[in-house]
Amino acid sequence: MQAWAGLMSRKQKICTLSQAKFRNYSPCEEAAEYRLRATVSNGQELVLYLCSSHMPHAWELAQVLMDRRFADSEAKHDLRLECISFHQLKPSPQLIHHKSLRAA
Ligand SMILES: [Zn+2]
Repeated sequence: MQAWAGLMSRKQKICTLSQAKFRNYSPCEEAAEYRLRATVSNGQELVLYLCSSHMPHAWELAQVLMDRRFADSEAKHDLRLECISFHQLKPSPQLIHHKSLRAA
């Protein structure tokens, strides 16, 4: 069972749609493949993790998050996304599910 220690220690990021609810999108439990940093015009940043199927919607999703994050802010109507930068997360072979425990 030595192999288990290595498998359990790695933290896998899951698509942002697993925690935040978005209108027009159903929850997603896919492993995130991209880490995105969205810069807002007030200088703040938002971080998102997206799987490959939600990556094309990055701009829209970041916009929704921004609206939520600054919902109480007086300046919210002036806020806009300035840019989104992202990088691909390392492919993780640990993602393969090992079914080591079996009911005998
Ligand atoms: Zn997703």
